Amino acid sequence: AKNKAMTERLVEWDKKHYFHPTTPLKEQQAKGPAHIFTHGKGIHVTDVYGKEFLDGVSSLWNVNVGYGRQELADAAREQMMTLAYGSSFFNNSHDVVIRLSQKLASMAPGDLNVSFFTSGGSESNESAIKIVRHYWKMKGQPERKKIIALERSYHGVTMGATSATGVPEFKNMITAIAPDFLHALPHQTECELGDSSAPGYERSIRGIIEKEGPETIAGVILEPVQGVGGIQIPPEGYLQAVRQLCDEYGILMMTDEVITGFGRTGKMFGVEHWEVVPDLMSVAKGITSGYIQLGAVMMTDRLRDELADLSDNVFFHGFTYSGHPTACAVALKNIEIIENERLVDNAKQMEQELWKGLNYLQDTHKIAAKPRAIGLMGGIELLADPDNGTTFEPSTFAAPAVVEECAKRNLILRPLIFGGLNVIAIAPPLIVDKQDIETIIAT
Ligand code: PLP
Repeated sequence: AKNKAMTERLVEWDKKHYFHPTTPLKEQQAKGPAHIFTHGKGIHVTDVYGKEFLDGVSSLWNVNVGYGRQELADAAREQMMTLAYGSSFFNNSHDVVIRLSQKLASMAPGDLNVSFFTSGGSESNESAIKIVRHYWKMKGQPERKKIIALERSYHGVTMGATSATGVPEFKNMITAIAPDFLHALPHQTECELGDSSAPGYERSIRGIIEKEGPETIAGVILEPVQGVGGIQIPPEGYLQAVRQLCDEYGILMMTDEVITGFGRTGKMFGVEHWEVVPDLMSVAKGITSGYIQLGAVMMTDRLRDELADLSDNVFFHGFTYSGHPTACAVALKNIEIIENERLVDNAKQMEQELWKGLNYLQDTHKIAAKPRAIGLMGGIELLADPDNGTTFEPSTFAAPAVVEECAKRNLILRPLIFGGLNVIAIAPPLIVDKQDIETIIAT
């Protein structure tokens, strides 16, 4: 009875005092929270009523090593007791941020050897955008300000990151977005390779560069695999085509590995599937498996050296929590777990199990859907008509209805419905085994 009273109070306080991120506010005020979680262990989370769920989306695609890891809690505690905070401003440093910078350099593709630290994905993309614009300004080409991003992309919620975001619901949230952001159709490989007769050419990255003038374009930003925009895996050759295109016009390429980084796709970083090395790479989420806030924007040696040569003064950009010692200590331990437990390989192997399950659903149960998966970043797009592949009308909430039913059956998934989509995301922690995938599919 005491617990029931406490739970009721929590619901009331949530309704009254808590402004939820990305939530239908009216519904939250009326109904209270959908779940109040209190515990997590392995791939499971438990709510305030004691009901246990399999977390099929690693919370926000971030709890890659699963919940309840003693080693991560110990790393945080030890670091707090050793050096609770250490600023890296004004050319100061501390041992943990140095060790993490070196570790990331050893892991990242190509010569992405230099890290600037943030507290999350939005700040990483915001920093990347500012660095790119600063670079061109210092190079004496201040007119190179425009940033090209993709439709359906999600890059976060700070001003620049929101402006780069192509998911309409986020993009339309504010009227005065930052200027000079343009959106291209995603995954137009032929166009990017230079075929001006290919459909959609004017709206491709290349078409936009030619229309605007390459001398006005600072950078291109894209997710190797689009997440929030519906788990959109690019066709073979697309990322390479964008890299070539950027090289052709001397434009900087920024990749957003906030979801795809640290093993999610079955490679340590998403771009490794296509052997592309960007000029800047944003990471967050999986870097600490969500145990604590951390992000980074990594850049090539060449870019850092050029910036150093060009800016003979202070680079006026930095957060109080850039390179927070506790976050860095947790990241180092988290990366150690990913490596020691071979979780990137596991994600690759579990992709096979996921495909088996998704194919089984289609073959045996005739579900009308377009499945996709790369590593443990999977999804099913629900279709209105299975025979000719017709998608649902934009206001049909098929995916949320399925996700709600799954929650009743102790499985958490996530509907991706932005821009009229009906995709169900499946992205469990990288520690899942064959049986866990079977449970997800069976549910
Ligand atoms: N970039 C991508 C690809 C993301 O999926 C997200 C968050 O989901 C972000 C950036 C923003 O990261 P954060 O919410 O940590 O600011």
